[in-house]
Order: sequence, then C-alpha cells, then structure tokens
Amino acid sequence: MSEAEHATKRIDGKSFAERLRARVAEETAKLKAGHGIVPGLAAVLVGEDPASQVYVRNKNKQTVETGMNSLGETLPADTSQKDLLAVIDKLNRDPAVNGILVQLPLPDQIDPHAVIDAIDPAKDVDGFHLRNVGLLATGRGGMVPCTPLGCLMLLEDRLGDLTGLNAVIVGRSNIVGKPMAQLLLSADCTVTIAHSRTADLPAVCRTADILVAAVGRAQMIRGDWIKPGATVIDVGINRVPAAEEGRMRLVGDVAFDEAVEVAGGITPVPGGVGPMTIACLLRNTLVAACIQNGIDVPDI
Ligand code: NDP
Repeated sequence: MSEAEHATKRIDGKSFAERLRARVAEETAKLKAGHGIVPGLAAVLVGEDPASQVYVRNKNKQTVETGMNSLGETLPADTSQKDLLAVIDKLNRDPAVNGILVQLPLPDQIDPHAVIDAIDPAKDVDGFHLRNVGLLATGRGGMVPCTPLGCLMLLEDRLGDLTGLNAVIVGRSNIVGKPMAQLLLSADCTVTIAHSRTADLPAVCRTADILVAAVGRAQMIRGDWIKPGATVIDVGINRVPAAEEGRMRLVGDVAFDEAVEVAGGITPVPGGVGPMTIACLLRNTLVAACIQNGIDVPDI
C-alpha cells in the first residue's frame, strides 16, 4: 500500500486536539469578556513520579495557553491522606477553582477512591467521581472522562453517525474501557468489552467495526485481528527500546504497521489519542466553569 493511502487512514489526533484547544480558548476569551470569569484548573500532584510530573507540567502549560488559570498544588510524597483531603476540601470551597484533578497513581498510604470521592462532583473534570460515573451510566450527562471523550470525538469526526456499528473495547478499566463502553452505547453502537479473561480475543476483535485498544501491552493487537475497513482507536502508551542503543520510543497496543494495511482508519501512537486527553480536560474545565456560574454551555 502506498504512503498516500496510509496517510488517508491515519486519524490525526494531534491536529484535532489543536483545533479543539483553539475552540476552548475562543470560548474562554468570550467568558472573560462577557462575564469577567476566568476558568481555573487545579491539578494536584503528590510525590515525584517523573511521568506524572511531565503530564502535570503539560497540563499546566496548556491550561495557561488556553487563557485559563492554572492553580495546581504539588505535595511531598509522604503527604498523609488526611492532609490531601484537606487540600481537596480547600479547592472545593475556592470559587476561583472550577476544575480539580488529582494525578494518579497516588502513593501507597493514600486510598485513591477516598480522594476521588472527596472532590466536588461539579469540579470533577476527570469524570471519576461516583456521581459522574452514575450519570454517564444512566445516559444523563455529567462530567465525562477525558480520554474516552477524546476517542468518541475522533470516531464521530471520522465516521459521523455511529448507530448500529459493532464496537469492541479491549480493556475494562474505570478510566478508559468502561466509560468508553458507556459512550459508545449512548451513541447506539452494539458494544462488547473484552479483557484478560476473554476467550479467543482475536475472533472477538474481528467482529469490530470500531476497535478500541486500552490494554497497556505493546503492539498486542495484530493486523489479522482487524476486520477489513474497521476503525481502530489505539489508547495504549507503551515504552519500548528504540533501534538506537539506549533510546526508548512510544508504541501503542496495536501493531500499527500491520493494522494500517487492513483498517479503514487508525490512530497512530504518538499523535493519536494522547493529545486529545488534555484538550478534553480543558474543554471539561470550561464546561464546569459555565455550569457553576449558570451560563449556557457552548457547543464544543
Ligand atoms: P489498566 O491496566 O487499568 O487496564 C488494562 C486492561 O487491559 C484491563 O482491563 C485488563 O484486563 C486488560 N488486559 C490486560 N492484558 C490483557 C490481555 N492480554 N488481553 C486482553 N486484555 C488484557 O490500564 P488503563 O485502562 O489505565 O490504560 C490502558 C492503556 O492506555 C495503557 O497503555 C495506558 O498507558 C494508556 N492510557 C492512555 C491515555 C491517553 O491519554 N492516551 C490515558 C489513559 C491510559 P483485566 O481487567 O482482566 O485485568
């Protein structure tokens, strides 16, 4: 298959995310000009996990570039659960903070469920609070987790109406697989969730018009697991040794070079789902700021 044919199959999450961030910035500027409101996002980081530090730095930078206030807190690795809950309580009560996210994973002494449950659901821009999980599961809106929301946007942009399509999601985590399934169900797909105990996973994947991979295993999904013409969304981010000695590179959960020959459309890693996550976080923060201030939510 030619380079040009491959290019038409690549679903470019990077440029979609840039356009989404530009729309969020435009609506943020309107909110400031019309109502004097600047949305505030507080990212709470506990400890010094290098990957988490990079994510939080990127989030803070893009928050400011979008015209919002970045009000994050960085706490030492030995912070107690009680002290973290006190920080959440302070952020919940601060009217300048419209969105709160706690960077996961948390150190062992802290129960992540207790922390997520403590976030005001109206400020839970990650969509992990039980109230938002329940609203999504019952098709009643609420804050939608950022990565699945980004995947849905890419799918709808590529395919339009998803009604009646068979969707297979590989992975059943609370942050990706399960909310992805809820969103695709709400979009009238017929949804299958596969996981590590699924029998004959390749055969299940071959039934998919839409295949979402959220596993965390480098290039596990092979080209011959994919139905010809299917749309493949690769959420996985895996570090593997690069060709150059001592270097690492990022790959997804799908063997891209094989899959691109068969699929109708496929997200690359990097440059596919990854950039959508922060763009959707900023979108959710804008939405939260509008709802908290009784202002109509823009259609983004
Ligand atoms: P989890 O580890 O929480 O979940 C992984 C899921 O994959 C589990 O449901 C597990 O099944 C399933 N699984 C594991 N091995 C197999 C297998 N051999 N066959 C079938 N299913 C399997 O991961 P997350 O959902 O948090 O993340 C998944 C991937 O997405 C990771 O690479 C992560 O880095 C990436 N990610 C990317 C984001 C982005 O912004 N692009 C955001 C979030 C995650 P079981 O439940 O049975 O154990």
